[in-house]
Amino acid sequence: MIVFDDVHKTYTSHDKTNVDALRGISFEIEDGEFVFIIGKSGSGKSTLMKCITCEETPNEGAVYIDDFNISDMSRALVPVLRRQIGMIYQDFRLIESKTVFENIAFAGELVGIPKKSLSQTVQLVLNVVGLKDKADAYPKELSGGEQQRVAIARAMVNNPTIVVADEPTGNLDPETSESIMALLQEINKGGATVIVCTHDSNLVDRMKKRVIEIEDGLIIRDKNESGYSEPARKEDPEFEGYGIENVGVAFGDDPAFKGDADYSDSYDDEGFMSKPVAPDIFFGETPPEVVEAARRAEEEAKAAREAARIAEMEAALKAEEEMRAAMEAARLAKEEAERLAKEEEERLAREAEERAAKEEERKRLEEALRLASEEEENAKKAAEEASRKAAEAAAALAEASADDADAEDKEDEKDEPVVETRLDRIATDEDTDAPEAETVSEEASETEEAEEEDEVPEIKEIKWTDIDLDIQEDDD
Ligand code: ADP
Ligand code: MG
Repeated sequence: MIVFDDVHKTYTSHDKTNVDALRGISFEIEDGEFVFIIGKSGSGKSTLMKCITCEETPNEGAVYIDDFNISDMSRALVPVLRRQIGMIYQDFRLIESKTVFENIAFAGELVGIPKKSLSQTVQLVLNVVGLKDKADAYPKELSGGEQQRVAIARAMVNNPTIVVADEPTGNLDPETSESIMALLQEINKGGATVIVCTHDSNLVDRMKKRVIEIEDGLIIRDKNESGYSEPARKEDPEFEGYGIENVGVAFGDDPAFKGDADYSDSYDDEGFMSKPVAPDIFFGETPPEVVEAARRAEEEAKAAREAARIAEMEAALKAEEEMRAAMEAARLAKEEAERLAKEEEERLAREAEERAAKEEERKRLEEALRLASEEEENAKKAAEEASRKAAEAAAALAEASADDADAEDKEDEKDEPVVETRLDRIATDEDTDAPEAETVSEEASETEEAEEEDEVPEIKEIKWTDIDLDIQEDDD
């Protein structure tokens, strides 16, 4: 779906004056519709078309294709957008130095059709437009209608979902225009959305399609199954028609081009080019050198026109080459983004794998631990059971031996006290003897010490005193 949301477009001319080409355009075009955009020359039709193909960017408002805002997208994406749009122009814009086949194949290459299937695709679209016999012709060897067919074939080569045609029949005679329009209708029946700018009132009236009419950059009519002029408006005394180019033009009488001023001024068609310039009536009366000069002037004019045409074609070629470069850049950017995304994906997968392995290991250890503690528990239980049984067995044994023999018991009773008595006695003996001995010896030593204490001083005193006294006494 194509949506225009309050689109404004102002051009600033070389003399710095502003031209408001679109002054708030809003509409929606559903997928698969066929829509005519009509209006006087200069009303803003081409500008509107260029906002769809991204040749112009709105100053205000937005243009959406399938919910994607194309009026503020990156320039690098423009070629990607144009892959789904087929563009057809009043002046065909074919490359003069290439054959019909090469013109279409070149466009196919630009949109990335694989080399293998390119030739087949070109044959197919040439069949569709009914020009398979002209594959090897050069554009200037074809009529205007044939050239426009080539341009349509070229627009079809990428199987576009949208076809925009700006005055596609502007340079063509009515019959040829009719067949070109029929071709666009076929393309529309094939599923593509087709938008055609035109001021071919006969065709618009006959085809009964949706008509969006523009005047001075504003929509003044948007009607389904409409014609070029609304009957109601024709009855309006103030209504002055839909532009001088359509008023009273007898299409059948004028097979020469009837283009918009913006295109046709720089363009000629074959009809005009083939008109004799130096009429035969001049012969005889006009000197041959004058006739010759006129012929030379005409030849020079023709050469100049051809040079202009070639220059324009070269510009178109250059633009296409730039488009190819931009597409290549977009392709590389996409590849890089895909590579990074893949790397990230692989990293995440690796991490997930590592996490899973760790989790697995943890579970394994947990299980081992659980089994170990289970075994320990079992072993403990078994040990308890075993000791319980042992205790039971011991108790049973003890009971059994107690019940069994009284005699033995008595003997046991006798024996046992003897041992005990003996042991007790030994213990008692040791207990009594030792303290007694100690006490005795302590008492003894105390006595001895006391005796010694008493005796020794006495002895000393006696000895010495006695001796001293004796001596002294003796001396005295
Ligand atoms: P139409 O669809 O009727 O041919 P255009 O969209 O070509 O109308 O032009 C709408 C108005 O914008 C006209 O007044 C035209 O002169 C002006 N215009 C178009 N293109 C340019 C441009 N590149 N620079 C300045 N003015 C322009
Ligand atoms: Mg135009």
